Amino acid sequence: MAAIGFVGLGNMGLPMALNLVWAGHAVAGYDLAEAPRAALVQAGGRAAASVGDAVAGAETVITMLPAGQHVRAVLGGSDGVFAHAARGALIVDSSTIDVATARDMAAEAGGHGLAMLDAPVSGGVGGATAGTLTFMVGGAQAAFERAQPVLAAMGRTIVLAGSAGAGQAAKVCNNLMLGVAMLGVSEAFALAAKLGLSAQALFDISSQSSGQCWSLTAYCPVPGPVPSSPANRDYQPGFAVDLMLKDLSLAADAAKSSGAAGVLGGPARDAYARLSAAGLGGKDFSVAARALLEGSLSS
Ligand code: NAD
Repeated sequence: MAAIGFVGLGNMGLPMALNLVWAGHAVAGYDLAEAPRAALVQAGGRAAASVGDAVAGAETVITMLPAGQHVRAVLGGSDGVFAHAARGALIVDSSTIDVATARDMAAEAGGHGLAMLDAPVSGGVGGATAGTLTFMVGGAQAAFERAQPVLAAMGRTIVLAGSAGAGQAAKVCNNLMLGVAMLGVSEAFALAAKLGLSAQALFDISSQSSGQCWSLTAYCPVPGPVPSSPANRDYQPGFAVDLMLKDLSLAADAAKSSGAAGVLGGPARDAYARLSAAGLGGKDFSVAARALLEGSLSS
């Protein structure tokens, strides 16, 4: 059993923290909002009064925050994690943020005598609740090994991608593939409808053909073929348009700063930006299919 400080008890963080409690760890959690702190207490955790209170005495500190600026604010600063964590503590940031901030934070942690990993996740709220997340980890091998028992309480697949920032690099590349693939699948269903081909027929054929991919077979963006997909529940997320927009913006920034060539990432980001501007930012990102079928999303 480990003493764990957990900062950021949102859609992802709260179920992750609950799995740590149920695995027998002593979890002190902090969030700006009161409701998730109360939920943590109900499950047997402790509600901390501040970031400093959450991390004092913790062997491992986990952060699960919206974006890079929140991670900088929570880790740095006079009431931050670095100022209050016990010397030698392990800091794990599971937020999805830019690679540069992840590397800066790891360097700052080292300056405070702290080990740090970037460990963003894939699997969504369902994976966080079921404890089946995939962790993509960047950092030193020794820190990775220390983190294993804690990450294993929240995830099923835990991969060391490389040194500091490599976890975030893996996450941004994975979600670039996902965001583009979902638009491709959605566009194909819109074309099929115009050609008089039923969605079920296209699914039955393409799920066994070279068009096969996760966006089609596990998360089909039109109602019917995959009953568990968000398309069957009015596109309730799942993974929201605004989060995909954030991840494709991170991908675009990373491509620009690294000089990587690209064709589809920019147009895909623009498409999700248009969905967001149309008031669909809180819907699942597969709502792109409905917008294309309705003719309200085109380049
Ligand atoms: P969320 O907005 O539900 O949760 C973030 C939490 O951080 C909120 O409860 C907020 O109150 C808290 N917070 C913000 N600033 C704080 C501060 N200074 N101190 C304490 N708490 C603070 O977001 P989420 O859906 O849980 O996502 C968290 C991260 O995980 C994001 O980086 C997101 O991109 C990533 N992610 C999300 C999903 C998903 O399906 N939701 C999947 C994979 C990765």
